[in-house]
Amino acid sequence: MNNPEPTVFTAVQGKGHILLATHFNPDGDALGSLLGLGEILEGMGKRVFRYLEEPVSHLYRFLPGCGQVQTDMAKVREFVAQGQAQDDFLTVCLDCGDAERLGKEYRAVTGFRPLVVIDHHQGNLGFGDGAWIEPHRSSTAEMVYDLAVALGAEISARAAECLYTAISTDTGSFRYESTSSHTFNVAGQLVSRGVRPELIANNLYDNYTLGRVRLMQEVLATLEMYERDRIAIIRVTQKMLERTFTTMVDTEYFINLPRAISTVRVAVFLKEVETDHVSVSLRAKGKCDVSLVAARFDGGGHRNASGFRVKGQSLEGVRDALLPLLRQEVQV
Ligand code: 5GP
Ligand code: MN
Repeated sequence: MNNPEPTVFTAVQGKGHILLATHFNPDGDALGSLLGLGEILEGMGKRVFRYLEEPVSHLYRFLPGCGQVQTDMAKVREFVAQGQAQDDFLTVCLDCGDAERLGKEYRAVTGFRPLVVIDHHQGNLGFGDGAWIEPHRSSTAEMVYDLAVALGAEISARAAECLYTAISTDTGSFRYESTSSHTFNVAGQLVSRGVRPELIANNLYDNYTLGRVRLMQEVLATLEMYERDRIAIIRVTQKMLERTFTTMVDTEYFINLPRAISTVRVAVFLKEVETDHVSVSLRAKGKCDVSLVAARFDGGGHRNASGFRVKGQSLEGVRDALLPLLRQEVQV
């Protein structure tokens, strides 16, 4: 039942040069899946290239293997050419709901064939030569674990730390609906391979810079409530980041604060990426489906966690365009 899709399994098993890629602004699941699979494949004697658009953010620099990430496309091309020359090459795209989410170089990356997709995003139509997509899964990392087991691969303590971090972040610390008994089984197996949950939790949640907490103060001060307190909206501006010496990376998990209000069904986080370029995070509780709302703005994600980007509109403009759709959604 948890077996990998056969085309994806065969491709990964059969190839010796593997390029790993994931979405831009990678979260814990994206990074943990990429680094964890990297360790697993190297343990099998394969050559691995860990490609990211940007270096790993300071939030995740505790993950084993993050020093091996490379951002240089020239080096990617060299690696791909070597593998392809021996007919021994594969690209694996992890946790990436559509090709464009691979980032600025998405056209180049999707050209590195053959390419397979491993993902758990609802609405991922698959964009390679093979796809293993299971939207009910807690995380991509849970699927990577099952792939490793199917391959008969060793899961080292280093790989286990990456996968555990990924699963625990993508489930909101094992709280979201997608957290299944299998998720706990996998997490248990990872702990038995050497993961110390308290150390990972400490790295993730008790390791904030003072600037990050100051930023949180400013962001929380922007809280707006609508529709009988069912909709909560917060925002971050470039000015706030400058004042607190932080970057957008430091806003990770802030959306959980308005989401925590008992009456809230939908929480919104409006992020000013630059002037008139807004990135929006949506979180839903209960029956509300924010992926439908995100889709109206050409975004995507899961029922309970989605997002999109808008250029050419202010934070207020995006909020005002969103509100009528959200008002409808929170009636259900
Ligand atoms: P976050 O709010 O953490 O950035 O994203 C929540 C979820 O929505 C993630 O699963 C992410 O993949 C998805 N998501 C966020 N922004 C976009 C977007 O611009 N396009 C698509 N297709 N999905 C997005
Ligand atoms: Mn994920």
